[in-house]
This record gives sequence, structure tokens and C-alpha cells, in this order.
Amino acid sequence: MSEDQPDIGDLRQGLDEVDAGIVRLIAQRRELIAAIAEVKQHGTAVIQDPERERKVLDGVMAVATELGVSASLVRSIFRELISDSVAQQARHLNGDGGGRARVAFQGAAHAYSHAAAQKYLSGRGLHGELTGFRTFRDAVSALLAGDADLAVLPIENTTAGSINEVYALLREHQLYIVGEETWKVDHCLAAAQDVPLSSLTRILSHPQGLEQCAQFLQSLPNAVPTTYFDTAGAMQAVAAAGDASVGAIASPEAAAAYGLVVLRHDISDSADNYTRFVVLSTTPAAADVRIPCKTSLILATRHEEGALLRCLEVLSGSGHSMTKLESRPRPGRPWEYLFFLDFEGNAADPRTSAALDELRSAALYIKVLGSYPAKALRPEARPGDLPGPQADASPAETLEAVAADEAPAVRRSRQYKLVDRAARSADTIVRVGDVLVGGDGFVVMAGPCSVEGQDQITACARFVRDQGAHVLRGGVFKPRTSPYAFQGLGWDGLDLLVAAGRETGLPVVTEVMAVDQVQRMAQAADILQVGARNMQNFDLLRELGKVDRPVLLKRGLSSTIEEWLAAAEYVVAQGNQQVILCERGIRTFESATRNTLDLSAVAVVRERSHLPVIVDPSHGTGQRRYVAPMAWAARAAGAHGLLIEVHPDPDRALSDADQSLSFDQFGALMRRLAAIPGPAREPARAG
Ligand code: PEP
Ligand code: MN
Repeated sequence: MSEDQPDIGDLRQGLDEVDAGIVRLIAQRRELIAAIAEVKQHGTAVIQDPERERKVLDGVMAVATELGVSASLVRSIFRELISDSVAQQARHLNGDGGGRARVAFQGAAHAYSHAAAQKYLSGRGLHGELTGFRTFRDAVSALLAGDADLAVLPIENTTAGSINEVYALLREHQLYIVGEETWKVDHCLAAAQDVPLSSLTRILSHPQGLEQCAQFLQSLPNAVPTTYFDTAGAMQAVAAAGDASVGAIASPEAAAAYGLVVLRHDISDSADNYTRFVVLSTTPAAADVRIPCKTSLILATRHEEGALLRCLEVLSGSGHSMTKLESRPRPGRPWEYLFFLDFEGNAADPRTSAALDELRSAALYIKVLGSYPAKALRPEARPGDLPGPQADASPAETLEAVAADEAPAVRRSRQYKLVDRAARSADTIVRVGDVLVGGDGFVVMAGPCSVEGQDQITACARFVRDQGAHVLRGGVFKPRTSPYAFQGLGWDGLDLLVAAGRETGLPVVTEVMAVDQVQRMAQAADILQVGARNMQNFDLLRELGKVDRPVLLKRGLSSTIEEWLAAAEYVVAQGNQQVILCERGIRTFESATRNTLDLSAVAVVRERSHLPVIVDPSHGTGQRRYVAPMAWAARAAGAHGLLIEVHPDPDRALSDADQSLSFDQFGALMRRLAAIPGPAREPARAG
């Protein structure tokens, strides 16, 4: 080691000091939050103020940009800090902390319900005495008998749906919901010994666990799924039996607790598998009106036409947004239904209590189950934002101003009707993950032409995310002119793309080439791209119309705008309304560029259709030096976003090397983009 090289030990010590300093600052921040909570205690200020949160985020992101720190890293850290402060203030207002509660749950120790109950208690600063019961009904009986203060029961799962038995218990007994909790379910398959999956003959779990892993279970050749009263209990039973041909499905924590070997992790059919739990009590609890709350109720409607609609109108008319509606059979009355309804609001708030009164007169029967602090809320979506200065004039507005002087004669195409502007005056906004494409936002989708390997796609994902891109692109099935050219990594490539998207929090877009790829791809990708060569593959378009996934429809190599919109109509006519158009250049006599990027199509499409339209200047020009200027021009022309090819080593790209931007070039494009007037908007949400 040379004299002037610092010692790694010293550097690490320095790092430890910085880390300790960060924690001390967090503690200091929490003290300030406590002081603020104290002030709010005596006032009427709400504890969740999106406007204030947005200001906090903007402020720290500006500091980050100044210091050369990734703004998105800082944003995600501060989102966590802000949600911690909201919880801290809610606890304060609730007067929580320090108490003890006897809590009943269903299952054995280390069951998901056990974990959720612990999470709920620790979130409220309570100590608990947790007791597991064999059935939901047993847990409720303990509560009703006064042997428990609270019962924590699962009510719905994002993969398997509602848990009917718990709804039945809510209907049958005088129970109140005083809280809710969510838990990310992370199922694994475990056995007494490390055996091949093919040697398992039986798999034990709670019916919900089996249902949430149905696809995985079907892939096991010899195993019969067997229901057990509880997930963790199933692990316990497998451990006790010591039979190596029996497996169980539960959490990895339960497997560890009962000394089992995990044979396979993450076996849920859906990676985002959450369960929502309700916290029940025999007495209602009031929640402070400054805490974001939900109210749950059971409703029977009158035997009149439009009766349910009238009830729902009471809620929407009074500004309450509904988060769940479940219908269950009404016992003893064939073909009549009870509705279980959750909405955002607090019965302690006069506006909500007035709405409840109105509901009482509109409904045949209503039972309010309680108002409680909300945990499970659908993440709010945000229009695509751009880093940097706010745009001052939107070209879309300019376009409208000009068009107002010279409105086109009302024209209707005979080739399409649903995608025609005449069918909808409002712009269609397509939700991709938590990003909105269309309307006022501007969305950047970026990544390599083809996924080439894990390192390449991960590096791209991180880089484009840090530059402010909203969606990660990457082809895995490639439509190549020559059959000898690189054809893409196929399904393995899709796994790599999805993993990179998950790691960076970016939704992914990839091309689907064949009808038989559609269903499988729709399970994993967030947007399904139809390539230029397939724009008039009508069977493919029809198949895409049957899935609930956004479609990115590229304009054909030599298609007119009318043909392009008629192709979109094929998708929409089958039911799927989520189509994003993409101008990617057309074949003309011009040979200086790979294609001729038709930016006038953006203006025409925005006039003729309500669908969002983005621009791909990479394929549109085919040469990297023209990509940035055309990207800026697209934004100025009123496009809703961009699709850009970026590669860590563009000259070595396995496809479309000439048009792929280097990281530096993409960074420069993004920095300048923010300065181009256009529909730039800061995110509509802070959380
Ligand atoms: C692509 O996006 O990589 C692609 C193949 O595009 P296009 O269909 O527009 O040629
Ligand atoms: Mn390409």
C-alpha cells in the first residue's frame, strides 16, 4: 500500500460515523415531529397534508440535485420518513402507547395472522399477549367471551380474494372494526429434509395458502394439496411427522421456527401477494378526525331498480371514495344480497356522519362496523413528471388555442369509432404501475433495444431510473429482418427484465410477437408492445383486446394514421381500453435516416383520437445523434411521452447499435428535456 493511499479500515470507520450521524438526525427529526404532533393535538390541522409533503420532497430533491445525489434515491428515503412521521402523529392523536392488549388470532405461532397482529400492536406502541386459535370462529368466541380484547383476522387477499367466513362472522355477531393491517405474504415450500420436489406426495397448508400458490402446486408432478387449519400449523405438523414425502406452505419464518428445510422460496402465483387484516373489538373505537380513516359497513338495499346505485351515489355525491364493495348472499333469502362496503371517511367527521344518515334512509338495512385508521389504500398514481424546471406553456394548450380558431370540420372515420375523439372528449389516461400515461403528464420509457443479460439490464434500469425515466423497456422476442440476427433471450430475458424493473421500482414494457405469447406475457410485463411489423396482425390485436394490460401500439412501417387508429380499434373493440399509440417513423423515399419520424402524426392523432400518443425517436431516426433533438421536438409537439433506446456500451449492442444512446447521451437528453415547454408536471402525490 502506498503512502498516500488511505487505509480501508479508516475509511470504513468514517463511514460508520456518517451512518451513526444519519440515525442521530432521524432521531432529531422524530423529536421535531413529536413537537408538531403536540401542536396539532390542540388544533384542527390534518396529519396528512399532501401539499406539505410535496413541498418537503421537492425541497430535499432540489438539495440532492445540487449535491449530485440521485434524486430518486432521496425521494424514496424521504417517502419512508414521511410515512413514519404520519404514523407517529397518528399514534399521538390516538393517545396510543404503553398499554397491554390480549389479542386472539387464528393459527399457530408464526402464522401470518400472528405476524400481522404483532405489526399492528407495535405500530400503536402496544404490548400484546397473543393467543392462536384453531378457527376464525374460535378466535371470535374468545373475543365475545371477554377472553381477548381484540381479534386480528384476515379479510381479503390480493391473490385469492375475500375470506367469506370472516365476512359471515361480521354479519352474525355484534363486532366492530377498530383497525386494519396489511401483510406481504411470502410463501415458501418446506419439508423435513432437502428432497427433490418430485418426491413430495402431499403438501399441507391453510386453504388460502394452497389457493394463493395454485399454479405452483399444479407444476408439482406427484403432490396432492391437502388442507390444514393453518399455514404455520402445517409446518409444525410436518416437523412432528418427520415424513420426508410431505411438504408444507407457510412463511420462511415459520419454516425456520419449526426446523424445516426450505425447498423453494417465493411460490405465490403473484409476486405482490398481500393480505389485509381487520382488528375486531366488541366495542367501537373513535378515531381522531385528522387521521386518514376508512369506514366499513354492511348494507341491504331496497327491492327497487337502481337501489344500490342510489346508495353509492350518496357516497360519491358527498365526496367519499369507495375502496371496496363485496356482495354476499343474504341468508334465508334466495337471490338477495348483502353488500359489505368500505370507503374513505370517519363517522366522527360531520360530513361522513351526514352521508351515513342519508344512506340509512336510502337503504333497507345498514350496520356500521366502524371507522378506523386506514392502512390499505390503493397507491395513488402520478402523471409522468420530469426533473428540473416546470414548463410554463403546454403545447397541448397552444394546440388547442390554435385549433379553436380553426376547428376542423367534424369528421368521423368509418374505420373506427371507439377510439375516435368523437366517442370521448376527455383524454384516455392509461395507468401503468403508479404512473399515468396521457392527459397532462409526460412519461419517459427507456432501456435497451434487447435484454442481453442480467448485468446489462440491471445497469440500464438503475441508470434510467436515476435520470428520471418512468418505465423500463427491453425486447426479449425480437422481430429481426434476418433470421441469423440475434433473436432475443425469450422468456429468460423476460424474467431478467421483470427482476430489474422490480429492483428499481420501474414498470416494464416489452414486445409480444405471437398470439400464444399474450397470456403468459400479460402475467409479467406491465405494458405489452406491438411492434411496427405486427401493427396489422389482426389476430394478435384481438388477443391483446382480451387481456387487462396496457398495450403500446407502434405505427406500422408504412401505415397511414387512419390504418393505425383502426388497428387500435381492434384492441379496444375486444374490451381492453388501455392502448397507448407510438409514432416510430415510417418508410419514405428519404434514406438519410432509417425512417422518417412523422411528428405531425402526434398533432393529428391528438385531434382524431382520445388515446395517448408517445414518440420513439430511436427507431424514428436510426442514428443516435438525431435522437435527442427529435425527442425534444416530440415533447414540444404535444406527445405524451417518449420511448428511447439506451445501452451501457451502445456500439456493442446486439440489436440497433447505431441508434442506441450511451448513458451520457441519455443523461444529456433528459436534462435538456425538462427545459422544453411541454406538459411537465410534478408528481401529483407525495406518498
Ligand atoms: C423495438 O422497439 O425494439 C422495435 C422492434 O420497434 P419497431 O417495432 O418500432 O421497429
Ligand atoms: Mn430496437
